[in-house]
Formats: sequence, C-alpha cells, structure tokens
Amino acid sequence: MSASGVPPDGRPALETPAVELRGVRRSYGRGTGAVHALGGVDLALAAGTFTAVMGPSGSGKSTFLQCAAGLDRPDAGQVLLAGQVISSLGEDALTKLRRSRIGFVFQAFNLLPSLTVLQNVLLPQRLAGGRPDKARAHELLARVGLAEHASRRPGQLSGGQQQRVALARALITRPDVVFADEPTGALDTGSAHEVLGMLRGAVDNLGATVVMVTHDPVAASFADRAVFLAGGLLAGELHHPDPHAVSDRMLALATLPARSPVAASTAPSHARS
Ligand code: ADP
Ligand code: MG
Repeated sequence: MSASGVPPDGRPALETPAVELRGVRRSYGRGTGAVHALGGVDLALAAGTFTAVMGPSGSGKSTFLQCAAGLDRPDAGQVLLAGQVISSLGEDALTKLRRSRIGFVFQAFNLLPSLTVLQNVLLPQRLAGGRPDKARAHELLARVGLAEHASRRPGQLSGGQQQRVALARALITRPDVVFADEPTGALDTGSAHEVLGMLRGAVDNLGATVVMVTHDPVAASFADRAVFLAGGLLAGELHHPDPHAVSDRMLALATLPARSPVAASTAPSHARS
C-alpha cells in the first residue's frame, strides 16, 4: 500500500477529497439533438489514491476528465479541487489553477520538441510563474529512469521514455491531482507497464493523486479503484480491480441495451447546482 501506510479505503471519512464532483452535468447541443455527455455525476476521489475511469466509447470519460480538470465547465453541479469549488472560477483563475495545481499526461505525450527533456519538465513551473526547481526536475527524471537523458530532445527518445518525461513534467509542481488520458494508448505493452508502474510509484512514494482514463483492464489493475461510466452516468466501481473483473464489467456495460447518452427528454435538473 502507500508509503504513508494508509490504505485508500481505510482513510478517515472526513478527509477532504482531492477531487470531488457534485451533480455534474454536461450536455452538447440543444433541444432534441442534445447529447447528455454527463448526466449528473457524484464522485469523490481521495488524496493519495490512483483511480481508473473506464467505460465504453462515448460513455463520457473525456468529458468527465475535462470537467474534473477545469478544462471544461459543467452546465450544472460543482467540481471541487482539494475542497475549493473550481467550476465557478473565471477563465484566468482556471488557467492559473491548472498550471499550478493540476498535472496532465496525454496519450500523445505533448512534449515540446525544441526544448530539452529538462526544459520540458521545468515548463509547468515556468508557466506558473514559479522558480524553476532544477534539483526537483533532476530528481523526478531519476525516478522515471531518465537521469542520463536530461539534455536530450524528445525526438531522441522512445515513446515510453517520452511518456516518462511527461510524467515527470506532470509532477514538477506537486499538483493536487494528475490527470492522465489514455497515457498508455500509444505505447507497446512493455513501455505501458513501465509507465503504469511509475504512475503507481508516484502515488505510493510521492503521495500523488492520479486519475487515469483508460479502456485497458490491465492498466486499470494498477489503480486502487476503477469507476465505470455508461451513458454519462456512474455505473459501478471496483476496489483493487483485477484485470478479469474489469474485463467482465466492461463487457457487461458494452452489451447493455443501448442507453447511449441521448436521454434528452428529461429536463435538466438544477437540484444540485
Ligand atoms: P468517451 O471519452 O467516453 O468516449 P466523451 O466524453 O468523449 O466520451 O463523449 C460523450 C458523449 O458526448 C458522446 O456521445 C460524444 O459524441 C458527445 N460529445 C463529446 N464531445 C462533444 C462535442 N464537443 N460536441 C458534441 N458532442 C460531443
Ligand atoms: Mg474519450
């Protein structure tokens, strides 16, 4: 379990979640063509835990991540980061918050090719207006096994190595939460395992909080908890998910009678907003 010695499900109930969604709704379009990408999601993610968000294509995973990370604003409901409501912040405040308090890992790595590995890792601190902490950058690069590669360019690294740089970059500001969107989607199995092991290590050894969208049951098994979305709604969860249980759950969701996110007949509820 985590280095802090506290299992995720043994945490005091009153501890402030790292991320919390309360009645979050997000629709695209209007009238009969409206798509309810998120139809009212309530979820709290404990600090220092690793959560996998899963679900069939179109179930709302990306919308969930965008809303939770302050990249998109819900139509109704609230998103809280470490107890602070962020869903009502203005654009400038949100941008500032994303730079300093949220880390991102994307499927396509998204490193800047003209910067060195070290400069890429330091970039979030520079953007946040903080003092670049080179010692921490080197320490994080060592943790992801890239101590010798600090002065290389991303183009000189393999995909797995680039994603490990992206992880170091996501951790540099000691964010409240790291959001990873299919972080292993572009990697071979071996590199994927390395990256997943390092996400796990960031939680266990650095106290990071990680929320990862994935459709891979093996990837999900690195998490403490897998939560499932279907048709824009939460559809169950597994603690200490094992790949077989996750596969079974995914199969069950995929073969449910189509309840794709089109329940546009219900009037939007503002009960929770
Ligand atoms: P997932 O990531 O699980 O595949 P998404 O969150 O991307 O699901 O999408 C959920 C639903 O919302 C889908 O039906 C999708 O077509 C729709 N959707 C997502 N983004 C948009 C958008 N920008 N405009 C219109 N519909 C969208
Ligand atoms: Mg998606």
